[in-house]
Amino acid sequence: MGHDHSHNTSGKNLKLAFFLNLGFTILEFFGGWYVNSVAIMSDAVHDLGDSLSLGSAWYLNKKSKEESNSKYSFGYRRFSLLGALINSLVLIIGSIYVISEAVGRLFEPEASDATGMIIFALIGVAVNGYAAYKLSGGKSLNEKVVSWHLLEDVLGWFAVLVVAVILSFKEILYLDPALSLLITLYILWNVFKRLKETLFIFLQGVPKDLNLEEIENKILEVKKVASLHHTHIWSLEGEHHVFTAHLKLREISEFSEILEVKKKVKEILKDYAFEHYTIETELDSETCELEKAHKH
Ligand SMILES: [Zn+2]
Ligand SMILES: [Zn+2]
Ligand SMILES: [Zn+2]
Repeated sequence: MGHDHSHNTSGKNLKLAFFLNLGFTILEFFGGWYVNSVAIMSDAVHDLGDSLSLGSAWYLNKKSKEESNSKYSFGYRRFSLLGALINSLVLIIGSIYVISEAVGRLFEPEASDATGMIIFALIGVAVNGYAAYKLSGGKSLNEKVVSWHLLEDVLGWFAVLVVAVILSFKEILYLDPALSLLITLYILWNVFKRLKETLFIFLQGVPKDLNLEEIENKILEVKKVASLHHTHIWSLEGEHHVFTAHLKLREISEFSEILEVKKKVKEILKDYAFEHYTIETELDSETCELEKAHKH
């Protein structure tokens, strides 16, 4: 019920992107270790996060569309939140590892293989640049977000390239761990931003794209609606929302008038991304237990 959402990224594209990214990530971890560069290691952690996002999106794309059942009555949409949470945890653990490595090298510098770094950075710029270019023509929000992200990845690899070129002329040993710290702090900043959004949905916060008071006021404008209480809005996974409310009606003399009110309220709700809604109607002679228990 409610509305329909079309997701542009098909499962096939996600699967391909996932395996390409994962392959490149494994190559980076070995390469970073081989050329002894923590900057490449931190890029590898970042790309591991990208791979996990793609992998869980690919898996959950199928899972989240499964029908609800008697065990999960809301369906499987919230599983994508779980994916985001696991992804954040992996990135935090990976970042802590890279930070401890990089800080250690600031105090006890180690030489990196500058030529090897240049080769890796060139591959990184080429792979991410090509992917960003391929997606830059996309019109959906999803494609734009991914393309913008890939552009950031290109910049990260470009920074590695610049440092590697400098290192091939002059061995300034702290450059590699310093760049690594910069990249890792950027990763963590994004992780915490995303974690905050994820936890907000878990805690049933009112979705940012909705204004509870605005919706209440629109419903109050419907004829014969006297008041509203027990209004609750939350989101399943950030895109599909849930709405419940109790409406106190006045001057109702016929059953059909109640139906008329309900029809109008449902029309108001159709403008929003509600996948589930429940509307309780009460006549002015009724007393509602919840009206006293709740101050809203
Ligand atoms: Zn990335
Ligand atoms: Zn309530
Ligand atoms: Zn009530």
